[in-house]
Amino acid sequence: MAKRDYYDILGVDKGAEQDVIKKAYRKIALKYHPDRNPDNPEAEDKFKEAAEAYEVLSDADKRARYDRFGHAAMGNGGGGFRGEGMTMDDIFSQFGDIFGDSGSPFESFFGGSRGGRRQGGERGSNIRIKVALSLDEIAEGVKKKIKVKKSISCNTCGGSGAKNAAAKQTCQTCGGAGMVRQVRNTFLGTMQTTTACPNCGGSGEMITDKCTTCRGNGTEQSSETIEFDIPAGVENGMQLSLRGKGNAGKRGGPNGDLLVIIEEKEHDFLKRDGQNLLYDLYLNFADAALGTQIEVPTLSGKVKIKIPSGTQSGKIFRLKGKGLPSVQSYGSGDQLIYVNIWTPKKLSSKEKDILEQLRDLPNLQPQPSKAEKGFFEKMKEYFNN
Ligand SMILES: [Zn+2]
Ligand SMILES: [Zn+2]
Repeated sequence: MAKRDYYDILGVDKGAEQDVIKKAYRKIALKYHPDRNPDNPEAEDKFKEAAEAYEVLSDADKRARYDRFGHAAMGNGGGGFRGEGMTMDDIFSQFGDIFGDSGSPFESFFGGSRGGRRQGGERGSNIRIKVALSLDEIAEGVKKKIKVKKSISCNTCGGSGAKNAAAKQTCQTCGGAGMVRQVRNTFLGTMQTTTACPNCGGSGEMITDKCTTCRGNGTEQSSETIEFDIPAGVENGMQLSLRGKGNAGKRGGPNGDLLVIIEEKEHDFLKRDGQNLLYDLYLNFADAALGTQIEVPTLSGKVKIKIPSGTQSGKIFRLKGKGLPSVQSYGSGDQLIYVNIWTPKKLSSKEKDILEQLRDLPNLQPQPSKAEKGFFEKMKEYFNN
């Protein structure tokens, strides 16, 4: 497959400054991050592609060679450049710092332990759960208590995986560091990567006598009841991440995260549109013509509204502030009431007689003003508010 231009991949100009390149990469990496795109090989490819582009463009030396020679400078086929062979762990260990600024809004998407240095054993995997919420729960925010099946630190050995303290030795391969460094000389210069020690799996220790409960893993299957708050205003598909509440790390490694994915339950009579709630109101023709008062349900109880005489089908009434709050900011959306004039489908002969008398009355003939003309005007009214 032909390789795409690195500048195109990151969507930056040829002369882009370093901070522009860094920002562009961060944006793409965030969008295609595996935590946000579980089991999506396409997203993973994009994520890797961007990392490869960033690896070259963020290095003045490599960038200069790329500018002169294009992809040929990257030693295609020569195996010199890691590029396509990059694993996720390489990307996280190499560019972890780009995600790790504390206080950054991205931080919750990028588990800190992943971006940072390895410590002890292998990190536990993330757990994904779905939580279905009603619109009422979304409007108020809600506390949830959920029992999650997960691996926890082994109770017998305290997570070490060893039968006892004497059953552990410092790993010979990495000398206890848990990491090994690989240095390669390539056309682009010296490349250095740090990976988990293959001998001890990153724990820095070798177990001579394994714990019989966990067979050396340091973890066992269990379940935990986890309580967490869901803020008001969340939307379908949103993901909350609870740091360290996922599966336990192996042999003392950091825990994975619990990722809570929000699902919205359908409401009986309200439909959500962003922060607004939409409600279909059916009015009989006489009420619409003569005007009336009517009760409309909202999430916070019934509200009386006045229907003026001569109300047309498609009219939208707005109940300010009766929509949903926003997760990010103050204020709430509105409830919009869409008027449908109900046309009777079944008629008794007496009703037919009455309607026959009405049929030709001059004021019953449609005479829409420009503002009342159909679909397009109504949509304008909706979107302009
Ligand atoms: Zn154990
Ligand atoms: Zn080791």
